Amino acid sequence: MTSSTKRIIVVGGGIGGTMTANNLVAKFYPEILKGEIEIMMLSNSPNHIYKPANMYVAFNAYHPHELVRKQRSLLRPEIIFHVDGVESFEFEQNRVLCESGKRYDYEYLVISTGCIPAPERIEGLKEAGDHFYQTKAAQQLAHKLRTIEEGRIFITVNFPKTPNVPHQCGIAPIETTLMLDEYLRKRGVRDRVEIIYSYPTVSQLLRNCLFLQKPTCDVLPTIFDSKNIKYQRGFTLDKVDPEAKIAYSEEGNSQEFDILMATPPIRAVDAVINSGKSQAQNNEGWLPTDFETLKMYGTDNVYVMGDTVDLPVSKAGGTCHNQSPVIVENIASEIRRGYTSAIYDGKVQAIAQMGLEAGMPLWYDYKHDVQVAPPTKLGGLMRKTFNRGIYWAVARGIV
Ligand SMILES: Cc1cc2nc3c(=O)[nH]c(=O)nc-3n(C[C@H](O)[C@H](O)[C@H](O)COP(=O)(O)OP(=O)(O)OC[C@H]3O[C@@H](n4cnc5c(N)ncnc54)[C@H](O)[C@@H]3O)c2cc1C
Repeated sequence: MTSSTKRIIVVGGGIGGTMTANNLVAKFYPEILKGEIEIMMLSNSPNHIYKPANMYVAFNAYHPHELVRKQRSLLRPEIIFHVDGVESFEFEQNRVLCESGKRYDYEYLVISTGCIPAPERIEGLKEAGDHFYQTKAAQQLAHKLRTIEEGRIFITVNFPKTPNVPHQCGIAPIETTLMLDEYLRKRGVRDRVEIIYSYPTVSQLLRNCLFLQKPTCDVLPTIFDSKNIKYQRGFTLDKVDPEAKIAYSEEGNSQEFDILMATPPIRAVDAVINSGKSQAQNNEGWLPTDFETLKMYGTDNVYVMGDTVDLPVSKAGGTCHNQSPVIVENIASEIRRGYTSAIYDGKVQAIAQMGLEAGMPLWYDYKHDVQVAPPTKLGGLMRKTFNRGIYWAVARGIV
C-alpha cells in the first residue's frame, strides 16, 4: 500500500460483508492490480456461519459442523483479511479501532455486522424460552423437540421496539412452525403435542395479523387449520414465568407451555450501538440508513447493509444479495465520477421452507407487497440446493 492507495474496509465476515468484499474486488480489479485501491475485511471471527441452517439444526436435519466455513476460503486472494473485531468506529477521523489495539484508516467503509438475539430483553425469556437463531440455542431446542412426548409448544414472535424494523428473517417463524408440525408427525407424537402459533398486535405496518405482509396473512389460517395448528393474534410477549411455565402478553393474556419457541428480540452488536450514531429506540442500535443509496446518514463515505440497517426491509441474506451491488456501484461511481449512481429498490427474494420438504419462492420490494409462487417439492429442492451449496457461491460473489 502506498500513501496514495485508497483503502475500502468492509467490517463483518457474514453474508453481506463477504459478498461485498468479493464484489468490490471484481469491480476494482484493474485499480487493485495497480495498487491504487486496497480492499480490507475486518471480522471478529475466523469462521463464516451459514446462519439460516440453525433452523434445520433445531429439527435434527443439519449437522452443526456443516454450516461453518473458514472465512479466508470464501474471500478472493486480493482481499486483506484480519481477524480483528472493530471495537469502535471513529467516523470523524475515517478510521476504526480494533480489539487488537490497531487502527485502520479508510477512504470508504461498509458496515455489515449483523444483529444478535437478545432474549434477556424480555423478563424470563432467556431462562424459559428456546430459539433457533444461533447454533447452541438450536441444539438445545433440538434436544427438546427430539424428546417431547406430549404437551404444548407455544410459539411467540418478538419485534424490535423501533417502529417498522422487523425481526430477523421475517418468514422464519412460519417456516419453523410448519417444520415443527411435520417433524412431530414424523416422530409419531403430533396428536399428543399441541402447537400454538402467536403473533404480536403490531408487526411493522399491519395490526392484529399473523404475519407482517397481508397476502401471507390471508392464507395462513387455512394452512394452519389444515394442520391443526392453533393460532392467536395480538400476543405481544411481555414476560415469562420460568417456574410456572407461563407466557404473559402485554394485551393481558397468558399461555402455558412445555416448550416456548420464541423469535427473540434482537439488537445490533456492541461496537455499532456504542458508535452513538443510532437513533433507534430501546438502545437497539440500528444505523440510520438512506433508503436508496444505503449510505449512513451524517457521513459521506460510510455504507450500511444487511441486518444492521434501520430500514423496513427483511433482515435476510436475500436482502444483502440486492444491497451489495448497489453499494459496490455507488462506491465505484463516487471514486470514478464523484457521485453515487445506484439505487436500492428494497428488493428481497427468498425460498421459504414450507414444512420439511416443500419450498416457496417469494419476492417483494419497497413498492410491491410480497409475491409468492406455490410451495412445491421442486421449490424444496431449490432450497436444499441453496442450503448445501449455492449459498457459498453467493458469498463468493459468483452467483
Ligand atoms: C434461523 C435463521 C434463519 C434464517 N433464514 C433465512 C432465509 O431463509 N433467507 C434469508 O435470506 N435469510 C435468512 N436468515 C437471515 C440471514 O442469515 C441474515 O439476515 C444475514 O446473515 C445477515 O447478514 P449480515 O452480513 O448483515 O450479518 P451476518 O451474516 O450476521 O454477519 C455479521 C458478521 O459480522 C461479524 N462481526 C460482528 N461484530 C463485529 C465486530 N465488532 N467487528 C468485526 N466483525 C464483527 C460477525 O462475526 C459476522 O461475521 C436467517 C437467519 C437465521 C438466524
